Amino acid sequence: MPSKVDMDKIVSLCKRRGFVFPSSEIYGGLASCWDYGPVGVELKRNVKEAWWKAVVHERDDVVGLDTSIMMHPGVWAASGHIDNFTDPLVECKSCHLRWRADAIEGKKCPKCGGELTEPRMFNLMFKTSMGPVEEEANTIYLRPETAQGIFVNFENVVTTSRKKLPLGIAQIGKSFRNEITPGNFIFRTREFEHMEVEYFVRPGTDEKWLDYWVKERFDWYVKLGIKKENLRLRRHGKDELAHYARDCYDIEYLFPMGWSELEGIANRGDFDLTQHAKCSGKELSYHDAEAGEKYVPYVIEPSAGVDRSVLAFLVDAYDEEEVEKEKRTVLHLHPSLAPIKVAVLPLSRNEKLTPLAKEVFKQLCPSFVTDYDDSQSIGRRYRRQDEIGTPFCVTIDFESLEDKQVTIRDRDSLAQIRVPVEGLEKVIAAKLKGEAFDASTLWSTREK
Ligand SMILES: [Zn+2]
Repeated sequence: MPSKVDMDKIVSLCKRRGFVFPSSEIYGGLASCWDYGPVGVELKRNVKEAWWKAVVHERDDVVGLDTSIMMHPGVWAASGHIDNFTDPLVECKSCHLRWRADAIEGKKCPKCGGELTEPRMFNLMFKTSMGPVEEEANTIYLRPETAQGIFVNFENVVTTSRKKLPLGIAQIGKSFRNEITPGNFIFRTREFEHMEVEYFVRPGTDEKWLDYWVKERFDWYVKLGIKKENLRLRRHGKDELAHYARDCYDIEYLFPMGWSELEGIANRGDFDLTQHAKCSGKELSYHDAEAGEKYVPYVIEPSAGVDRSVLAFLVDAYDEEEVEKEKRTVLHLHPSLAPIKVAVLPLSRNEKLTPLAKEVFKQLCPSFVTDYDDSQSIGRRYRRQDEIGTPFCVTIDFESLEDKQVTIRDRDSLAQIRVPVEGLEKVIAAKLKGEAFDASTLWSTREK
């Protein structure tokens, strides 16, 4: 069952308004690589900031980390990625297209019906070499997950943060997977960004903490505006669990191509710390002073993709509405995710309006991402702001010069209120925090 929103419409809006462009477009693009444009980069930053705020800053049991993408190759041997991070690959003997054997039905090439080779295991890690000499000994890998950077720093973080277990370590960063079949716009790409927490707990409490994080992460998407009916939980069957996982849930979203994974929350047990202790020779255990025992912690891992979250927020916010017999496309993005919070729009480019409009912009821009736009008709400018999800537009007209008041237009209700320029910043701040937008103040403030 696909969602009501067409992927083509999302891709086209993203291109038209500057959310996402094809990578290296002037050279014809590079398969499944995408660039975030001026409003896309703001949306993506906001998604990451909302996540960091929720899992790090608003808690006292999680700290942050930023580890390097290139790591000692021993890490990937210990984690099992060199041996197990593979997909079964088949190649068509006629058209030479490659497919994931477990993702196609039947024994023929889905493109041309040709005969397929026997499946061989294909490692999804990108290999490169470090230093000026290209030889086997210098082979390193681009990380396929940020998690391992956290595991190998477990000891450092526990020692320096002075925290007790349960303790989470959070990281946001790029990961790379040489997917055989990427696709669906920014949903599955070979270079992408991860938002991961490794939450270390005492063995025996792991099941409780898995349930806790599943709920916590599910609610995060709802709080940021994703409709509940477009989200669902799916527990992994025993046969589909990754080599390190004891249990795993996916939070799935109803994307245009159907229900697909948005985030996985796995119980990794003590697999990673045990492996790294064994392979590095360093003891990685925790001394629990309260319980008077020493153990290797279990870990619960909520692992989300930034790019697919961005896509989910875009799809969920997308709407086409009829307003005064005119069609408008609008993104009902949560204010904290909206790329631009407020747009300052002088009614026209008339030189009398410009100084006051600039004054308004100067008042707002230190507090909010503010756009200043004075070209084209006001109607077209409203439409642009609606399409990028700007919650509020502030219009400066000729009356503003007399009464020093401006009009604020609400993206969702289209209600307008008239408020004094002085103190406008406070009004916008309150509205962004969710204060009701009461159009009746339009007249009351005017008459004063
Ligand atoms: Zn073929």
